[in-house]
Amino acid sequence: MTNRIPVRSTALGYPRIGSRRELKRALEAHWSGRLDAEGLERAAAAVRAEMLDDLAVLDSVPTGCFSFYDHVLDAAFAVDAVAPRHRRDGDLASYFAAARGDASAAPLEMTKWFDTNYHYLVPEIGLATVFAARPEKAVAEFREARERGLDARPVLVGPVSLLLLAKPADGSPEGFRPLDRLGDLVEAYAELLTELGRAGAGLIQLDEPALCGDRSPEELEAVAGAYRRLVGVAEILVAGGYGPFGESLPVLLDAGVEGIALDLVRGRSDLDALETLNVSRETFVLAGVVDGRNIWRTDLAAAAADVERVKAVTDRVGVASSSSLLHVPVDLAAETELPAALVERLSFARQKLAEITALADPDGPREPRPAAPDSWRDDAVRARLAGLPEDADRRAPYAERRAAQAERVPLPPLPTTTIGSFPQTAELRKARAAHRQGLMIDADYHSRMRAEVAAVIAEQEKLGLDVLVHGEPERNDMVQYFAEQLTGFATTAAGWVQSYGSRCVRPPILYGDVARTAPITVAWTSYAQSLTDKPVKGMLTGPVTILAWSFVRDDQPLADTADQVALALRDEVADLEAAGTAIIQVDEPALRELLPVRAAGRAAYAAWATRSFRIATAGVRPDTAIHTHLCYSEFGDVIDAIAALDADVTSIEASRSKMEVLADLDRASYNSAEFRSAVGPGVWDIHSPRVPDAAEMAAALRLAVAALGPGRVWANPDCGLKTRRYEEVVPSLEGLVEAARTVRSEI
Ligand code: GLN
Ligand code: ZN
Repeated sequence: MTNRIPVRSTALGYPRIGSRRELKRALEAHWSGRLDAEGLERAAAAVRAEMLDDLAVLDSVPTGCFSFYDHVLDAAFAVDAVAPRHRRDGDLASYFAAARGDASAAPLEMTKWFDTNYHYLVPEIGLATVFAARPEKAVAEFREARERGLDARPVLVGPVSLLLLAKPADGSPEGFRPLDRLGDLVEAYAELLTELGRAGAGLIQLDEPALCGDRSPEELEAVAGAYRRLVGVAEILVAGGYGPFGESLPVLLDAGVEGIALDLVRGRSDLDALETLNVSRETFVLAGVVDGRNIWRTDLAAAAADVERVKAVTDRVGVASSSSLLHVPVDLAAETELPAALVERLSFARQKLAEITALADPDGPREPRPAAPDSWRDDAVRARLAGLPEDADRRAPYAERRAAQAERVPLPPLPTTTIGSFPQTAELRKARAAHRQGLMIDADYHSRMRAEVAAVIAEQEKLGLDVLVHGEPERNDMVQYFAEQLTGFATTAAGWVQSYGSRCVRPPILYGDVARTAPITVAWTSYAQSLTDKPVKGMLTGPVTILAWSFVRDDQPLADTADQVALALRDEVADLEAAGTAIIQVDEPALRELLPVRAAGRAAYAAWATRSFRIATAGVRPDTAIHTHLCYSEFGDVIDAIAALDADVTSIEASRSKMEVLADLDRASYNSAEFRSAVGPGVWDIHSPRVPDAAEMAAALRLAVAALGPGRVWANPDCGLKTRRYEEVVPSLEGLVEAARTVRSEI
């Protein structure tokens, strides 16, 4: 080690879809056959050039963080860990086969990336996986930066995280874990690092976000072994980015890595640890003080103070983002409609780069972030919250509610319903665009949407469904729609963030106290109900999901912000009930998304998250049914939280996992003597255009009835139908109604 500081200012990674989503467009054109591989590569090169233009202000520029789809998939390809079913003629074809699947092979599974709304592809690793270094992408992107005269630093997902994020390949022996292959994988990494070194790389960043999670002593042992081997090959900087390294921190330092990048926004306990660990003054530390996960302007005074704390421990300190900037939009300058008081307090990726360089400059500005203006505060909301009872529970226990609800809305066993949205047809999208651009007046747009509601109701009556929905045609998005009508929220014009592959989302910004100024959904639900004698469900998005899919103020605990959103929803629920709505569904598809990465934080999270749901829903009478919907089938870690929502009916995704969720329910308190509410395990996988037949859905329902008892099962699809076409929806729902009738006749 030398006393040279290898990096004074850097970002751990950067948005890679293009400031105007150029890569998204190119990818979609390529997939639909309108753009050949060469055209796609040209578009990608332009996006990379734009990234480098931005990153050039840093003294060390991360490279290799461009991706055609996902950085975990890139890492798998960099070591040739490609499932045999995805191998095609040409790397790009193999890559997209793994990412998206094709006629002959299912894609890799996709799952959420730590506690973010990004989704990565899960590599499949088995005993037969042969690792081999494929450094071409990493080397080419490193050279691209070097050719511009930039001090470039290759970035790769590290070997431990790659395996911890992977799943065993099909047919792996019982007890096999991908991490068992670490020794072999590390040799391929050694080769990659060597090749990068040959191309001129010095410091190389290996991202080990999995070390921000709880790791067993055995896993830590593996980390130590892997890094002891790799430090002999290259100068390695290990980055986490998703909270504290905790128990992994001393292990990494002992292994002799050149440097460590700390998340000093969410992982502040690492700063305390650093002060007590007795580290050498030569340890190189990147202080991640600029938040890579949120869009608030950095408090430069506070950040500089944190950097000083690190400098008190070691002589080699640089300034960085806390995580990759992947999770924030590119440029605040694109937002011309936001209020000035908000703009002054925001910082997107480009602005964050300027903050990083300012902090790295000893003479740079150090001003604190301006405090929130008084106008963002709503004392009435605060007073109401302070007056809420601690428990916020339903007035009657479930058994009593169940009887009252059955009397108010008599339903057959296995009632049939859908999750809320009906297809967003091309005509609907066109009308929305015309309205947004001012080409369609409000009244016309409104009547177009009402006509759609009427058509959706008529269709459901024809299908013979038991509980109807209005179809959500008026909603651009299940979170943005509410954000647009609540105080304390702003929406952006171009604040796109990659969710997965070419898919981007535009999270609203929750900046101030939240309140509802007028009913939001009541007129739509009431109109739908006026058209039918069947019950129509009210349809709302829950507080946790609204938070999870927004950028949220960081000046008070998330729990307090959740309660404010919950209170606004509570008023909406009350108004729906007063308008005669007997069933109100409050969706919480993101309940699991905010679950803390480490187990230690989970109980506290579950407590506030479920309380906020109950604040939103528990004000209703016992004979009003509260439904909830969750979008995933892995329940192990949130099952008790689901029980604590205390909903009367919970619909969940189940068809892809072949109803495995029923076994989870069986083990959990959800199914305990005190808590035996109803469940709608999805019997139709709406993520695929495939139309399931009635027999298959009946078989799934029989499994559910066997596991839960006949009185507790609802028949519904996995999720909303907005991405499907009527050609698929009509026959699938016909089959669903038929399946429910068949199984009903057997009980
Ligand atoms: N009610 C929403 C819909 O049907 C739920 C969507 C979701 O779970 N993501 O579209
Ligand atoms: Zn869903």
